[in-house]
Amino acid sequence: MQRVANFIDGQFRPPCSGKYLPDAEPATGRVIAEIPEGGPEDVDAAVAAASRAFPGWRRTPAEERSRILLRVADRIEENFEELARLESRDNGKTVGLARRMDVPRAILNFRFFATAILHAESRAHITDDRALNYTLRQPLGVAGLISPWNLPLYLLTWKIAPAIAAGNCCVAKPSELTPLTAARLAELIVEAGVPPGVVNIVHGYGASAGRALTAHPNVPLLSFTGGTKTGADVMAHAGPLFKKVSLELGGKNPNIVFADADLEQAVATSIQSSFANQGEICLCGSRLFVERTCYDEFLDRFLAATKRLRIGDPQDDATEVGALVTEAHRRKVEGYVALAEEEGGEILTGGKRPADLPERVRDGWFLEPTVIAGLDCNRRVMQEEIFGPVVTVTPFDSPDEAIAYANGTRYGLSASVWTRDLQKAHRVAAAIDSGTVWVNTWLLRDLRVPFGGMKESGVGREGGFDSLDFFTEAKNVCVKL
Ligand code: NAD
Repeated sequence: MQRVANFIDGQFRPPCSGKYLPDAEPATGRVIAEIPEGGPEDVDAAVAAASRAFPGWRRTPAEERSRILLRVADRIEENFEELARLESRDNGKTVGLARRMDVPRAILNFRFFATAILHAESRAHITDDRALNYTLRQPLGVAGLISPWNLPLYLLTWKIAPAIAAGNCCVAKPSELTPLTAARLAELIVEAGVPPGVVNIVHGYGASAGRALTAHPNVPLLSFTGGTKTGADVMAHAGPLFKKVSLELGGKNPNIVFADADLEQAVATSIQSSFANQGEICLCGSRLFVERTCYDEFLDRFLAATKRLRIGDPQDDATEVGALVTEAHRRKVEGYVALAEEEGGEILTGGKRPADLPERVRDGWFLEPTVIAGLDCNRRVMQEEIFGPVVTVTPFDSPDEAIAYANGTRYGLSASVWTRDLQKAHRVAAAIDSGTVWVNTWLLRDLRVPFGGMKESGVGREGGFDSLDFFTEAKNVCVKL
């Protein structure tokens, strides 16, 4: 069985505790690796290594940093298939999705920020003929990077790449549920020639390793992606130390279909936005609102397409829906299906553990894609993030009603709007409280755009120069003329 190590100061080290945690394959339920139970001592060592590496790394010219990041991207690309299979085994996602989304995005994250730093500009303000002000953007030191299990390599590299491109060193804490691509990335980082200490990876539980990073006095900036409750805990510990914090949190995203939409496209994309990655994407449209005049037609097509989805071994190329990340998470999602029935909802399809799974994955943590109708919008199932293959459908009668439904939760991460009427699209997009609104599409990502959430979906924006702004401090220099 694979035994993962922490990656500190360019070396692979066992945890100070000497203890290891089991890492299971969701599709089989079997343990496939052991990972370090890292804690405060490991985090201390990693922060010390990053602090030592920082002066040299920040002085490294941007062109050289760029070349090193591009080599990391190349190493990921050279190991594309291995990483896709590993991500699929560790997370339960289909290998097809890992090939289409996770691994390409990890490569792009490094390439994008490697080249972005070559195009960064500084601002200058001339105060009449009295002074010249110019803005320096400088790295802060050690960045703490905490990432979740749903898009493990994708989100880890979304943080590491801009952090080190901007000249910081970092300590990353990947999710304890999906550590394997992070461990492989550490090896590729060594091969790419990233200097020791620039990137450190400490594995372990959030409550110990994650908390130690959050509360560490020598970690002045934190980029966290995970659940809203955890985000509040991160904020509570980072706040008194006045850290710079970026929080990318949960969502309960509306997907609004007007009757004048291209229904074929709306159905096909809504299947993706409801069930891709088993619904375990923060951006999934888990609340579907459909204009009443096309509700029946949309629903017929949507249900038929849902029933056609192929559930099975995530390592099989033909599989469209894989396994949920843990048994406990599947139970939580099933709990919401049961709650939906108690709350007066009707399960139109799914809600059960699939029968007839292939032999290898018979004991895996699978759940059928589930569609629920008939719930009031204030019910818990329509208010709380479920983060599984479960979508609710609700009819609406007017754009204002759709907007009110969309905005009627404490979240505000993303939304989709389907219509051929441009005026309506712009009006509804402007009125929805969320960090991203997609019109006639979903999850179309341009890495230059600001990304983040409103309300309880997050604080701050990352992406493009927003990421580089986050990972640097602005300093104004005022020169008297
Ligand atoms: P989580 O909050 O349980 O864990 C996220 C990370 O934080 C893990 O590495 C975990 O070990 C660590 N952690 C846990 N407790 C901690 C603590 N007290 N202090 C510091 N670190 C701690 O989230 P999860 O279950 O891994 O991921 C699912 C959640 O992430 C969902 O809510 C989803 O919406 C959200 N998410 C948001 C985005 C986004 O961009 N907004 C993207 C992906 C996932």
